[in-house]
Amino acid sequence: MYIVPEALIADLVSREASFEAVEQVFAAMAAKDAYNFPVVREAIGHEDALYGFKGGFDRVGGSLGLKAGGYWPHNLEKRGLINHQSTVFLFDPDTGKVHAMVGGNLLTALRTAAASSVSIKHLARADAKVMGMVGAGHQATFQLRAALEQRSFEKVIGWNYHPEMLPNIEKVANEAGVPFEAVDLPGMQEADVIISITSAFSPSLMADHVSAGTHIACMGTDTKGKQEVEAALLAKAKVFTDEVAQSISIGEAQHAVAAGLIAQSDVIEIGAVINGTHEGRTSDADITLFDGTGVGLQDLAVASKVVELAIERGVAIEVDF
Ligand code: NAD
Repeated sequence: MYIVPEALIADLVSREASFEAVEQVFAAMAAKDAYNFPVVREAIGHEDALYGFKGGFDRVGGSLGLKAGGYWPHNLEKRGLINHQSTVFLFDPDTGKVHAMVGGNLLTALRTAAASSVSIKHLARADAKVMGMVGAGHQATFQLRAALEQRSFEKVIGWNYHPEMLPNIEKVANEAGVPFEAVDLPGMQEADVIISITSAFSPSLMADHVSAGTHIACMGTDTKGKQEVEAALLAKAKVFTDEVAQSISIGEAQHAVAAGLIAQSDVIEIGAVINGTHEGRTSDADITLFDGTGVGLQDLAVASKVVELAIERGVAIEVDF
């Protein structure tokens, strides 16, 4: 088997490669060539940690495996480690033998950023100019950096619950040569594309903060009870997701479905748009919303790419197992 440690990932995988891997696996999911296994997520009663597994099989891409890991809230303060910790395990689909073990921390950030970028590519208006960010934490910087590659954005506007964190995303905008402006939430009406990436349990972005024609990628809600945007916004939007089952149970759509504002059948897999079996946006006035819940297949797709590159460049550690 091969081992690709966390420290090697940054030099191996690019935003472009992550984007391609995620776009391809979303397409495979919609074509029923790939599926995710039920997610396990447990509060283990130790260190207040949440631990679990996300896995799946992509018959076309050939990735089989799982990401194991979770969230250890005291890591940073107690041990100087990041709080999110994960490792990806890949298996040979022909034999069941373990193929690779890959550091999953940076991969998680990259595959999540790739998901919102894929949604922008396929659902945002071609003439989008103003990029809006709700959230300015660790993951927000990755989302913004990747999003700015999808359209000719002329300005980034940002709001964050903790305003002192806004310089995190201002730095990313400026590095990409795009001016940044802090706004209040109604100021988001100026945005053509909005990414929300927060850990909130109640909505910040309301339906009347969003103008006609906007594309919104909701990326923070990945657990029951979390919520970033008003449920009424989903009722006004065409709603897309990575996986419908997750969207309506742990994603942003859980609230709109529970309130009877939309039905499960209103939520469309983005892979269908990629494959051309759903029309996606049909008018410049449509509000499109991508509910990015994060699926195991995204991790496997990007990890498979990393292993391929590590073997090619002779840096994968090979062990007899
Ligand atoms: P972080 O701790 O670095 O940042 C948290 C962000 O949420 C900050 O912007 C903070 O100001 C904001 N926030 C905190 N409380 C808030 C509140 N009450 N109202 C509004 N905003 C609030 O975390 P991160 O690494 O940036 O991750 C953000 C979220 O994204 C987490 O909830 C994480 O679970 C989720 N996530 C989702 C995926 C996916 O695939 N969908 C992948 C990775 C992370």
